Amino acid sequence: MILTGHLLLPDGDDGVRLSPGVVAIEDGVITSVEEGGATPNADAGDADCLICPAFTDTHLHFPQFDLIGAHGLPLLRWLDEVTFPAERKWEDPAYARGMAERVIRQLFAVGTTGVAAYGTLHAEGTRAALEVAGAKGMRGVIGQVLMDREAPGFLTRPAGQLLDETATLLDAFPPGSRLAAAVTPRFAITCTPALLEGAGKLAGARNATVQSHLAETQPECALVSKLFGGASYVDVYRDAGLLRPGSIWGHGIYLDDADRATLKEHGAVIAHCPTANSFLRSGAMPLREHQDAGVNVTLGSDIGGGYERSMVRAARGMIETASARGDTYPSAAQAWRTITEHNAAVIPKNHDTDRAGVLFPGASADVLLVRPNIDWLNHRDPLAMLMWAWDDRWIKRTIVRGKIAFQA
Ligand SMILES: [Zn+2]
Repeated sequence: MILTGHLLLPDGDDGVRLSPGVVAIEDGVITSVEEGGATPNADAGDADCLICPAFTDTHLHFPQFDLIGAHGLPLLRWLDEVTFPAERKWEDPAYARGMAERVIRQLFAVGTTGVAAYGTLHAEGTRAALEVAGAKGMRGVIGQVLMDREAPGFLTRPAGQLLDETATLLDAFPPGSRLAAAVTPRFAITCTPALLEGAGKLAGARNATVQSHLAETQPECALVSKLFGGASYVDVYRDAGLLRPGSIWGHGIYLDDADRATLKEHGAVIAHCPTANSFLRSGAMPLREHQDAGVNVTLGSDIGGGYERSMVRAARGMIETASARGDTYPSAAQAWRTITEHNAAVIPKNHDTDRAGVLFPGASADVLLVRPNIDWLNHRDPLAMLMWAWDDRWIKRTIVRGKIAFQA
């Protein structure tokens, strides 16, 4: 497949630039990227199109797509009253399968082809989501959510059972695959020390991705401190062996310098979820402080605490949050790099040797064909205009591993 248009290409360490050119795709891989002008001989696109790497969402919950917009509750009440009842429905693997299909259709339609996603407590429901996502070519990880306390009885199981079930999922969807199972303790509140330690051991033994939540709200931090004898939230995870290189921690709002140093030392990643943080009034993550301390920060939608499925608008939320704090904020070029290559790079450290999220020969062919209906090419900063005026209806094709997965 030959695509032509303005290519979104890497620029320096953390930006992108636009250049008219041609991308060739064969056997699921980008085989060439040529700058110098659009061609009339392409299979799709023209000089008015944007050819862009597809997006990766580094924190979202598949079972929560049907509860987006439950406004007005703080995190711990939102979990009890809205989220846990929705997750209960995944007891039925057929329901989970159908819902995963709907979710993936929505994700492809907004240009997301890579995920670090949560299923539910239910091993068979989570397996159904892995099977559907795997068959559709999604890249990333999906994890069974581990909980053995501080949740309703219908969403807790004994630690030993949960660890056995996750081990079985890791057998079926092993680390190193394009789509793999992950070790996913929900957060320290809903996990006994025994479950956290077991999860850390399992992740270490299998070299599996760990994902969880960290310091999203102040009441949550206070409860963690109470449950773990005053220990720092980050240290609870570190001591359980969970703070592994490439482990992905959702939110990370309330951290101090010592926490940041620990995260950096272990190569752990914060998945910043700005739209969820504003929606649940959790707080504003100090992006600048984390980055200045050398912590790797990616972006997530956190559906359904987050309301925004589009990673472009999550990126906008990142800029708005940093700006509202009075901090220096990322440029549009930096935000584009985050939701493409930077987010995608969280996955291959453990799971896929391909380079992804970038138009580069040899990279996985996960690519968007976009036709903006505004005069973006004559704007003083086309990348900024694309980001701030972004409309999902501009996405004409989502290509996953070289195949058309969505077409408008
Ligand atoms: Zn979350």
